[in-house]
This record gives sequence, structure tokens and C-alpha cells, in this order.
Amino acid sequence: MWYFRSPQMVFGEAALEHLDTLAGKRAFIVTDRTMVDLGFVNIIADHLQQAGLRHAVFSRVEPEPSLQTVYAGATELAAYAPDWIIGLGGGSAIDAAKAMWVLYENPDLSLEEINPFEPLNLRRKARLIAIPTTSGTGSEATWGAVLTDTGEQRKIAAGGPEMLPDIAIVDPSLPAKMPLRLTADTGMDVLTHAVEGYTATFHNDFTDGLCLKAIDLVFEYLPRVIKNGTADMEAREKMHNAATLAGLGFGNSMAALAHSLGHSLGAIFHVPHGRAVGLFLPCTIEFIRRGETPTRFYQISRFLGLPAATPAEGAESLAQAVKELSVAVGQPTSIKNALNASQTDFEAALDTLVDRAEADSLITMGARIPTTAETYRLFRYAYEGKAIDF
Ligand SMILES: [Zn+2]
Repeated sequence: MWYFRSPQMVFGEAALEHLDTLAGKRAFIVTDRTMVDLGFVNIIADHLQQAGLRHAVFSRVEPEPSLQTVYAGATELAAYAPDWIIGLGGGSAIDAAKAMWVLYENPDLSLEEINPFEPLNLRRKARLIAIPTTSGTGSEATWGAVLTDTGEQRKIAAGGPEMLPDIAIVDPSLPAKMPLRLTADTGMDVLTHAVEGYTATFHNDFTDGLCLKAIDLVFEYLPRVIKNGTADMEAREKMHNAATLAGLGFGNSMAALAHSLGHSLGAIFHVPHGRAVGLFLPCTIEFIRRGETPTRFYQISRFLGLPAATPAEGAESLAQAVKELSVAVGQPTSIKNALNASQTDFEAALDTLVDRAEADSLITMGARIPTTAETYRLFRYAYEGKAIDF
């Protein structure tokens, strides 16, 4: 038995107008300072007013939201007693909104106690709307929330199936203002979600089509957005849709090895998430294809029309296409070029990098699980940007 979960999806031009139809009394917007400065919070507020809802705003969510921020926001949220919670922003704001919602409905719970196996009894007080302003994490379509325990310097995966947003509003006018570097980083995250969602061991018939479509959209439209910028609203809209499709795909299957390596690199050297996982994606394709018949990568290559006379050739073609896309959108293809750190710093951190990657459960979700020695080699090869040959 398996499940497929999805929010109600509202997408396309003027999707934000869906807010005009909300029934309720009070909405609580969880967001960050940039969303206020860009005028996005005011736009949302105007729509809520159309619906006759009052609103309050918590705009102190930081990138990689801390437990402290979530507790602080949850206190304000509980005092306001909304019937709608709106997460507005990138993955950080949406994840923080999910976690604050859990505390609102369960005031005695601590964030460390959230896990997929405990009922949270959400939706007794409020429902959640996710409005992504970047095209990347897919958090609007998943039930996970990644928080940071700043005291312990560790990430906490605080997720449960009930934390899936009720409504995801995927309006392309919001990511149109994303800087191009952020667009490239988040775009590579979309591609990694979709490729891993399609090839992880939890892949299934319900997610395959979503992942393939997202991969196709990224290859076609990410270079176009980088080339044309905000002028190309069609490409922006396609990338925004791709992010949510990939979120729905991997959110109902799983991410894998590139995410475990990328999480580790990102946490230690502060490489943006999408840049880190995108850098590892071709390495992990090459690594997995040497462990077993790469049927799944082959299927992706065939879908994209890449050279794929054999499964091995298909996997190699896909790895190569990912590298070429990275170059085309200005992303680094080696850790060396991604870091503001010397090789000595990298070598000094290598034991911790490997430890953290192995502690990340996603490392077990790929079709080939690396040994500790292989994980060291994966990091070393990725440092140099060398093709994996083991
Ligand atoms: Zn990701």
C-alpha cells in the first residue's frame, strides 16, 4: 500500500485571485523581510481584503529557519487565532509556516517530537495555503519541513503527512522577480528532485509522469529564463510549474543520494541548496549506473530524446546533459569552483562531510548505496569535477 497526496493546485496567470474567494475570518501570513520589501505581502493583503478577511504578518523567517523563529512565530500566530495560515516565500517561509501550524494546533508539542508516524490532528483550528515565490524547493507540494537547531548546528526534518498544504497557489508573477543566480540555483534543485524522484527506490506509477514532465520543462525552460530573464514570462511560468510538479513527484516518492551529499556540503560550506545538489546530480547518476542496470536513467534519456542505444549509454547521456545544462546556466560543475574555501579546508572537513552525508537517511534511497570509502571518493571526485569511474 502506498499513498499519493496533493494540495489543491491553483496555477497560472492571476492564480492569486483565488484568495479573493476564501471563506474565513482571519489569515496569518508567515514570510520574510524580502517579501515585504518586494510588495508581495501587500498584494496578498489586498486579495484577503477582497475576501473580507483580516490578516496579520510574521515577516521574520530567515533562510534555513531556526527552531527559535518557529516558536516565536507560533506564539504570535496563536495570539491572533487565524483560520487560515499562509506561507509566502521560498521553502524557508513555507516550511516555517507548516511548523508554526503544528504548534498552533498542538501547543504542548515540541518541534523535535514531530515525525511522520504520530498523528498531529491538524485542521481543527486552521488550514494552510502555500504561495511559493521561488521556483525550486517544491515545499508547497510536500509535507516536509526542514528546520535548523542553531544551538546544536544541525538540521531537523520535522514532517508528517498532515502537514501538506491544503492549497498551493502557483502564480508566475511572483518568481518573475527572482535574481538570475537564485533562478539557476533553484532550477537545478527542481531537476534534482525530478531525477531523484523518478529513480529513487520509492518511485511509483503515480509520480513517474510528474517527474518526467518536470525534467523536460527544466531542460527546455531553465536556459531560456537565464537568457531572457523577466521578459520571458512563458519560461518563468513553465519553471514555476516544473518546481511544483517535481515537488509533487519527489514528495510522493523520495529524493536520494545527490540530496544527502548536497545537504552535507551545504550545511558545512554554506553552498545554496540547489547549487549543491545540482553539482552532485551527474556524479550520482554515473555512480549508480555502475552499480546496476540503469533502466530508470535510460528511460529519462529516451523521454528527452538523448542518445540511449543501451541503458549505460542512456545514463551517461543524462549525466552529460545535466553537466551541460549546469554550464549553460552558469552553475559550478565541481566543488572546487563552488566553494570560497581552499583545498586544505575541504580536506579538513572531509570526515565531517562524509559523516553528515551518511547520517542523512536519503543516502539509502538511491538504487546504489555507497560504502563509506565510496562516499569519500564521491566527495573527492566531485571536488575536482571528475567523472565517476567506480
Ligand atoms: Zn532539494
